[in-house]
Amino acid sequence: MEKQAYKTKKGITQFKPVLTVAEMSHYQFNSGTGFCLACGAENDGVDPDCLRGECEVCEAKKVYGIEELMVMGLVNLVDESPATPDFEADDFALRAADVAEFQQHHQQKESR
Ligand SMILES: [Zn+2]
Repeated sequence: MEKQAYKTKKGITQFKPVLTVAEMSHYQFNSGTGFCLACGAENDGVDPDCLRGECEVCEAKKVYGIEELMVMGLVNLVDESPATPDFEADDFALRAADVAEFQQHHQQKESR
């Protein structure tokens, strides 16, 4: 699980998980994974609605279930595939449309 450092209102540096949509649903449906805000460690055997569980790594009572992190807005959801941004997909669709139009035009010419 990727993690990202952030500062709390009190100025303490904590961590929040960075998940793709696919990872997000994976963790939602395969419950049992929690995340420690204090050190960013993944904890197993955690209920999705766990609040302030004890971290098995740093022993801070800052382990939360994925569902709770979502509710608190502490999940950084990222695009599924950063390698293929949306504009490239649009660009491709545009080109495909151009090709289709060209082919149609060509066929019309031939049928004359
Ligand atoms: Zn921890």
